Amino acid sequence: MSPSHQLPKNYDIEEVERRWQSTWRDEDNYFDPSSPEPRFIIDTPPPYPTGNFHIGNALNWCYIDFIARYKRMRGYNVMFPQGWDCHGLPTEVKVEETHGITKNDVSRETFREMCRDLTLGNIEKMRATMRRLGFSIDWSNEYITMLPDYYRKTQASFLQMLKAGDIYQSEHPVNFCSRCETAIAFAEVNYASRTTQLNYFDFDGIEIATTRPELLAACVAVAVHPEDERYAWLRGKKLSVPIFGHDVPVIEDPAVDPSFGSGAVMVCTFGDKTDVYWWKEHNLDLRKAIDRKGVMTGIAGPYAGMTSEACREAILADMKRAGILKRQEEIEQRVGTCWRCKTPIEILSERQWFVRVHHDDVLEAARKITWIPEHMFTRMENWVNSMEWDWCISRQRIFATPIPVWFCTTCGGMVLPAEEELPIDPTVDKPRHPCPNCGGNEFAGEKDVLDTWMDSSISVLHVTGWDGSNKKPPYFPAQLRPQGHDIIRTWAFYTILRAKALVGSHPWEQILINGMVLGEDGFKMSKSRSNIISPETIIDQYGADAFRQWGAGGAATGSDIMFNWNDVVAASRFQTKLWNIFRFVMGHLERGADPAAPVTELSDRWLLVRLSGTVAEVTAAMEGYQFDRALKAVREFTWNTLADDYIEIVKGRLYEDDEEGRASACSALRTTMDVLCRLLAPIIPHFSEECYHTLTGRSVHKETWPEFEYTDEDAQRQGNLLVKTVAELRRYKHDHGMALNAPLGHVTIYTPEPLDDAGDAGRALVADLHWVTGTPQLEEVVTGVEFNMAVIGPTLRGLARGFMEAVKALPPEALKNPPATVTVDGKEIPVPPGAFTPKITYRVGGEDVDLLTPGDLVVTIGRKP
Ligand SMILES: [Zn+2]
Ligand SMILES: [Zn+2]
Repeated sequence: MSPSHQLPKNYDIEEVERRWQSTWRDEDNYFDPSSPEPRFIIDTPPPYPTGNFHIGNALNWCYIDFIARYKRMRGYNVMFPQGWDCHGLPTEVKVEETHGITKNDVSRETFREMCRDLTLGNIEKMRATMRRLGFSIDWSNEYITMLPDYYRKTQASFLQMLKAGDIYQSEHPVNFCSRCETAIAFAEVNYASRTTQLNYFDFDGIEIATTRPELLAACVAVAVHPEDERYAWLRGKKLSVPIFGHDVPVIEDPAVDPSFGSGAVMVCTFGDKTDVYWWKEHNLDLRKAIDRKGVMTGIAGPYAGMTSEACREAILADMKRAGILKRQEEIEQRVGTCWRCKTPIEILSERQWFVRVHHDDVLEAARKITWIPEHMFTRMENWVNSMEWDWCISRQRIFATPIPVWFCTTCGGMVLPAEEELPIDPTVDKPRHPCPNCGGNEFAGEKDVLDTWMDSSISVLHVTGWDGSNKKPPYFPAQLRPQGHDIIRTWAFYTILRAKALVGSHPWEQILINGMVLGEDGFKMSKSRSNIISPETIIDQYGADAFRQWGAGGAATGSDIMFNWNDVVAASRFQTKLWNIFRFVMGHLERGADPAAPVTELSDRWLLVRLSGTVAEVTAAMEGYQFDRALKAVREFTWNTLADDYIEIVKGRLYEDDEEGRASACSALRTTMDVLCRLLAPIIPHFSEECYHTLTGRSVHKETWPEFEYTDEDAQRQGNLLVKTVAELRRYKHDHGMALNAPLGHVTIYTPEPLDDAGDAGRALVADLHWVTGTPQLEEVVTGVEFNMAVIGPTLRGLARGFMEAVKALPPEALKNPPATVTVDGKEIPVPPGAFTPKITYRVGGEDVDLLTPGDLVVTIGRKP
């Protein structure tokens, strides 16, 4: 039976992908702790379980899976774990929406339970998408940060850093979102531009401009530049705050910009970061005018209880009434907003927990890591150098890791659990022993919880086998951290900081930064632009492998990548092409050929030289995580070298009865398909498996990476001549209106060296074709003449016809070397330059031939009589 009947004509993506996904076993991707092979541990990002594994995640995971599969084939003991970073506000908000409650309507534990249920359901949905994309995740190393096994370690890490003095509690200004009612870290503040009013008003005799009149009650000083002569008379004076009447000092500080507004500014606690700086620098009072809910406090007097917006309007109205509001102008302002809900943040002084930022330690550790691409290190460096405050890690929320601390109500001392008691919830659990300080038995549990980044910043410690102690985990550091550039200042920064603080070293050998996926319109995907495309939409139409191939080829690793349906279609078309090649090859292999037969013929050896070069290129690209370069090399080899050049040349020999010639071609093709499947296995795992399994009966994912090297300089040089010649002759046929399978007759190719193509070129061109060494004995024969009427017409006019007759009558030699004059009607007339060219044909051994001269070669084609 012909084998091409066994393989379906069309590659059924859905059927093939589903079949292999249900055949592959999770166990095959497990990290093996007892393996002697070198480890390759990946600190995979734990996504936030929204229930929606979006296209940006999918691209990132494609890269990780390419690497994991490649490294396994290179013999590494790979760990590709999967975590879930569960805690945080978005889930709380979703639970409130879904159940129609607020977090205060039920007990903390009930609310957490609702959050956990929602999260588990979402994780299940995202796992399903990951499986459909064919990711070779090590599910035995899955972790879920909201479960006790993980957050026990978060709590242990907190206690360790607390004891080491790297975590402390303090009243300090922090960024606060009054909508979310929690402190947030600087990394969670986004900046937005908005237009606002700059209000000029009379402040006890001097003019002051402010965008935040509602903070007047919180005014603690008026600041001027020390060299601003306009205000020299104010030195050492006090001013009375309008409306509120309390006195504030006038301070001088070089940070004041004399050209902004009137050059005098009011300092409030706190309008912005500069206020915090002045407040510290000049040891000013603290007046809290806004509370955690964004409502005016008692010190705002008549405005107490108003929202800050209402207070602003009321104060402006009162200023107008009092005649102190002089003028208002519009200005553009950069405002810090909450990353989550976009509410403008307030800076409030709060009792919070902080992680000490040791800038030099973080940078020193970051420098030991290889950043790919390299320039991403600069982003980290800039961020670290711009940090002025420590990391605020306490949050006033519920669904998060509890801060494992009690306070003794008798003496106020801090009481900590022993490590083996962890995890605890100090609002529920009680200390096992009386207060070590005073023997008291009454305790208040810390209600604040930890920033989610406190969970995820120890992911690398968790996956490298950390037990929660200050001992270095057994597999630490990990080999690779893959992540997006949008979380360099959070996840990357916090992880480096924590690894350095907890185990004293840098967390990974390499960090690979991936870009974002933009919509087809070139903009960030967002609901408001309706340019979101889900991975499922793409898989449904073109399959997981086409999606993965799009991910590999779409852009250089690290660059943003614009989604484009055409690229997915092209990926799918490449698979169709490769499937057709594969069917063709299988057809010939199954007709019978000795798999151990040597590769003897020129074009077969040439193919293997090219394949060897492709393997080197793809290997170098994979080593550098340049997946686009790897894919391009495979595509070019498959499409140009294999399909367009080689198969067209060798086809005829495959159908011949010459056993040796067939066997050589079959061996070359078998090797080529075997190697191609393995090169493509990391990128298109289903397709490669389908082909490889058909070819060998084994799984390509258990094979090693091809280390195929084949050098044959003669084959390379002569094969290039052969390919070039066949291409030239095919073009010749095309130019002469001949079908490609039309017979070409007698062809002789004169080469500088002897060349044996096993009859391939002759069969490919349907020609009686001979390779001959040396140069042909060409005879030039003038067979006619071609006139250039554009020259003859205007110069000779009435004499043109007579001139042409005279030229035709010239002997052939004279046509090649035109005389200066010819005789027309008995008159000698000059021959205009370029008036005619002789028609020359060539003759070899008495046969009329056409001549082609590609490169060093001379090709003669016998002309049919
Ligand atoms: Zn918020
Ligand atoms: Zn006590």
